[in-house]
Amino acid sequence: MNEKFDIIIVGGGIVGLATALKLVTMHPNKTVLVLEKEKEVAAHQTSHNSGVIHSGIYYKPGSYKAINCLIGRRELVSFAKEYKIAHDICGKVIVATDKGELAHMNKVYNNGIANGVEDIEIIDSKRIKEIEPFCEGIAGIRVGCTGIIDYGDVARKYAELVIAKGNGNKVLTSQKVIAFEKSTDSTTVITETDKFIGKYIITTAGLQADRITKKEGAKTDASIIGFRGDYYDLTAKGLSKVKNLIYPVPNPKFPFLGVHYTRMIKGGTECGPNAVFVFDREGYSKTAFSLKDTAEAFGFKGTWKFFAKHWQFGLDEYRGAFSKAYFLKRLQKLIPTLEMDDIEPSRCGIRAMALGSNGEMLDDFKIEKHGNALHVINSPSPAATASLAYGNEIAKTATEYFNLSN
Ligand SMILES: Cc1cc2nc3c(=O)[nH]c(=O)nc-3n(C[C@H](O)[C@H](O)[C@H](O)COP(=O)(O)OP(=O)(O)OC[C@H]3O[C@@H](n4cnc5c(N)ncnc54)[C@H](O)[C@@H]3O)c2cc1C
Repeated sequence: MNEKFDIIIVGGGIVGLATALKLVTMHPNKTVLVLEKEKEVAAHQTSHNSGVIHSGIYYKPGSYKAINCLIGRRELVSFAKEYKIAHDICGKVIVATDKGELAHMNKVYNNGIANGVEDIEIIDSKRIKEIEPFCEGIAGIRVGCTGIIDYGDVARKYAELVIAKGNGNKVLTSQKVIAFEKSTDSTTVITETDKFIGKYIITTAGLQADRITKKEGAKTDASIIGFRGDYYDLTAKGLSKVKNLIYPVPNPKFPFLGVHYTRMIKGGTECGPNAVFVFDREGYSKTAFSLKDTAEAFGFKGTWKFFAKHWQFGLDEYRGAFSKAYFLKRLQKLIPTLEMDDIEPSRCGIRAMALGSNGEMLDDFKIEKHGNALHVINSPSPAATASLAYGNEIAKTATEYFNLSN
């Protein structure tokens, strides 16, 4: 076929689609193609997350995450209103259950203030109970601007708008990119069934970000490690114990927020996710195994360094994955009266975390440049909340780096 485009984006998750939307808006005369390997867009992290519109309270002041979460959240809420995407700014509480957590709770609150997060306040145990009657805590933070949404719906709307711009812009599914062929002024992107020519390439491949980056010929020191997050649903009996969103104070040593309670926009309330290292980056079951993924993970020295440092955390997470009683115990930290028949196993999601060869997780969003390509290497949470702001940053970087305005 060899159809030609100005920009080809590999990966039809929320980040790739937001980037496409920003590009077609900034450059109405350029043609943009998004290639997605699955039958539908948003098939991986974008539709396997907690569906929380994060406030921006957790992130280091000045970081890319902090800045883009705030701008992105506000833009997302306006977008959801404009396009009538169901959402609810229901607020949440972050709850400390023992004195040892208070120092970090205050740090999180101060981060929120430094980041300019609106409608946050420190609350006492009495106020926690007024907001969430079954929750026990010694102090907490009420975050009024947190909300819930379905990110699959958001991403599908981005795709619809990219196509609606006309000008030959396309979002094609069932197009797995397997190779790139370089020539002097363009790149041929080869999928399992077709070939497309792009003047410029942007990759936003989530759980496959490192592989697609290397396939394009760029070097990256980071390797993607998958962390599965299992969820339980509150049963009809358990549902009355949670009104909206209840989070623990996160462990500052890890990039995960800890198992929490989340009311979902399409009904029901979920509890989770934990964070279990996976042997198959896209295997959505507890026993999924991929020899390729496992061999690659263990062939990377950063993985060994990470395990050496965090083996205790890893073992705890594994216990939680295979024992309902253990998972329940973790949830009871916030709601002590929660019982076995208040929860039932449900779905899971897999987070893509970029790990450096030093065994440290990359904390912030990361974009790398190579020839006529930009590679989005790390898009951890809150990339869904931040998608419109993050997509705008990627589109602006592309405009400058590819000199698109000329
Ligand atoms: C369990 C969990 C809970 C989370 N909770 C939240 C939350 O509450 N709020 C929040 O803001 N964020 C949350 N996140 C994070 C958020 O979901 C991600 O940061 C975001 O979805 C990343 O989007 P993405 O487009 O980079 O990745 P993805 O959605 O994974 O998209 C990447 C796409 O690239 C495609 N692709 C890969 N390789 C190829 C190839 N060779 N050819 C073509 N296509 C390819 C994949 O099929 C995929 O569709 C959570 C994530 C998880 C997993």
